[in-house]
Amino acid sequence: PFDVLIVGGGPAGAASAVYTARKGLRVGVAAERFGGQVLDTMGIENFISVPYTEGPKLAAQLEEHVKENDVDIMNLQKAEKLIPAAEEGGLHEVKLANGASLKARTIILSTGARWRQMGVPGEDEYRNKGVAYCPHCDGPLFKGKRVAVIGGGNSGVEAAIDLAGIVAHVTLIEFDSDLRADAVLQRKLASLPNVKIITSALTTKVRGDGDKVTGLTYKDRNHDTEHDVDLEGIFVQIGLVPNTEWLKESVALSPRGEIEIDARGETSQPGIFAAGDCTIVPYKQIVIAMGAGSTAGLSAFDYLIRLPTA
Ligand code: FAD
Repeated sequence: PFDVLIVGGGPAGAASAVYTARKGLRVGVAAERFGGQVLDTMGIENFISVPYTEGPKLAAQLEEHVKENDVDIMNLQKAEKLIPAAEEGGLHEVKLANGASLKARTIILSTGARWRQMGVPGEDEYRNKGVAYCPHCDGPLFKGKRVAVIGGGNSGVEAAIDLAGIVAHVTLIEFDSDLRADAVLQRKLASLPNVKIITSALTTKVRGDGDKVTGLTYKDRNHDTEHDVDLEGIFVQIGLVPNTEWLKESVALSPRGEIEIDARGETSQPGIFAAGDCTIVPYKQIVIAMGAGSTAGLSAFDYLIRLPTA
């Protein structure tokens, strides 16, 4: 069995692997896609101390750094079930889609999250070419330009307020007849001169010139009419979904499906830790996931040295 089995090979899982392997522990990483969301990212400008890098390059460096250490990387492996140890100090079990089962004295869950997509024509084609999901990451790329934010929940309204300070104009598009964000955020949004709010609107299409986004089309749900908005960027803020469906019966999840952890990264199950975008951590970013992965790794070590020796 492993001392530490890490499920997920994004920035959080890679950090956990480096920290735990450097303690001399037997470490395995099972990942559906080593590199995680970073693989889908183009320019990265907020990876502190590295002013500019690109997703595929950072993903390759994550793998290289993990491989510098004695870590068993099991790539293209999807975990389907977690069976926590029956008694404290016992072995936890992770079942993989290929039928294999892995056992470990501690587990670190770092399965990340995925942005919910609109699922309209043009969205995939113009991803990273005007279609964006992370205002903290890509907001500055649209300085002085016109953007739309899709979604009037807290994250959409927060994104619109944030972007209004950077870009020329923001159009917020909400499907429902009202925004769902907290009143204080809605008041702030309404006070901004360069924001237009359109409710009861269903985005139907991302338009582009082959290279980049030039606008979007939405349907006015009250009048059943279609309208075009010309702009350079579209921030989709209709939900970040944690990859935790497979954990429902094994660890405590928040109402949004995020893994509940304490300050040390421990879940509701002793010896099972979690880090990064799959947890309740408030901000979902690469440096934050790496810090959290390091915390979970050190906590797993701390847990192991307190176990009675068999
Ligand atoms: P992830 O990166 O999501 O990694 C999760 C890992 O778990 C993957 O290896 C995945 O394959 C694996 N996995 C999932 N389910 C299972 C399973 N059942 N079994 C086995 N393995 C599984 N952040 C920034 O700081 N700066 C940026 O510029 C930036 N730009 C972004 C641009 C885009 C388009 C996107 C999508 C995100 C961006 N982010 C950016 C956010 C950043 O990528 C994430 O915060 C970060 O990758 C989270 O790391 P993580 O390790 O928690 O999860």
